[in-house]
Order: sequence, then structure tokens, then C-alpha cells
Amino acid sequence: MPTPFQLVLGVAALVGLGVLFVYGRRLLGAWLTYRDTRVVVCPENRKVVAVAVDAAHAALSAPQGHPELRLEDCTRWPEKAGCGQECLSQIESSPEGCRVRSILADWYRDKSCAFCQRPFGEIHWHDRKPALMASDGKFVEWAAFRPEQIMGILPVHKPVCWDCFQAESFRRDHPELVTERPQGTGPPPSMA
Ligand SMILES: [Zn+2]
Repeated sequence: MPTPFQLVLGVAALVGLGVLFVYGRRLLGAWLTYRDTRVVVCPENRKVVAVAVDAAHAALSAPQGHPELRLEDCTRWPEKAGCGQECLSQIESSPEGCRVRSILADWYRDKSCAFCQRPFGEIHWHDRKPALMASDGKFVEWAAFRPEQIMGILPVHKPVCWDCFQAESFRRDHPELVTERPQGTGPPPSMA
């Protein structure tokens, strides 16, 4: 039979856990929302820039109510590091709309690979990142671009799936091992 002291201790522990759970969820939610690179229009020069929100600061301020946003980095820094960070209003009004990964996921979602015609479906950014085909037919990966360039890149490139990009990279690096097929008549070049 628990003593009154043990009962009080048990209730206090449960309440503490409940508060920790609620605060922890808000904290984690804010961190997940505000990490990753975003693109916004700089209010000062009206050009697209890439910025990073201080996700840790947003997360730590989230349990008190509304997460407080401040920039951690911008492509115009350090020259403009003392700016008023007015671009944060764009992130506040649409946290997902200016997130680079979300913009790219939206762009690929309803498209098919320009080479093998397979629809993209869900994108696996960590291990099967899709790529692009330039107007000259060359395949190019996202690592070749800076985040602030994406708005100019998307209209002039076609989407290419990870499989086709890997096959093309292999063909380029090891032409002696590849059997070519004319484009559009079958799957990507196969390894002999
Ligand atoms: Zn493909």
C-alpha cells in the first residue's frame, strides 16, 4: 500500500512527464519545421536568396507560445549580416512554401522521368536523390547548383530519376563497359 507521500510523488511525476511531453513535442515540432535551407525574396534587392533559420532558437522559444524566428545564415551575409531580416515574414507566412526540399518535392511529384518515363512518386532525398536534364540533354545533379538558383533552374530543366542519373554517370565514367541503346527505345543504357 503506497504512503500518501509516495502517491503525491507519483502524481507529481505524472504531471511532470505530461508537461515534458507537451513541451518536447512543441520543441521538436518547431525544430523540424524550421531546419533546412529556404529560398526567399530579399526585401532589400528583390532577388532570390537562400537563408537558414536558427532552428534551435525557434525550437527553444516554441514551448512559450509562438516560435521566435531569426536567421542563422543568408547568401548575402556576411556583407549584409546587420540587415533587419524582414524576409522572415515570408517564412512565417509559409514555412513549407519556401523550403527548398518542399519546392523540389512539389516539382517532381506529378512528373515522370524525362529518360525512362517512370513517374517519380515519393522522393527519397537521402539515398535516391533525383537529378535534372539540361536543354542540351546532359544530366546534372543538384549538388552542381546553389539553393538560390532553383527558381531559375526548374523552368529550363527536365526531371531525371536517380536510376537514370546513376546509369548515365556510369556510362560517362566507364564507356568501355556500356552497351548503348537509342534514346526512347528502352531502359537506360545497360552495363555490359
Ligand atoms: Zn529514369
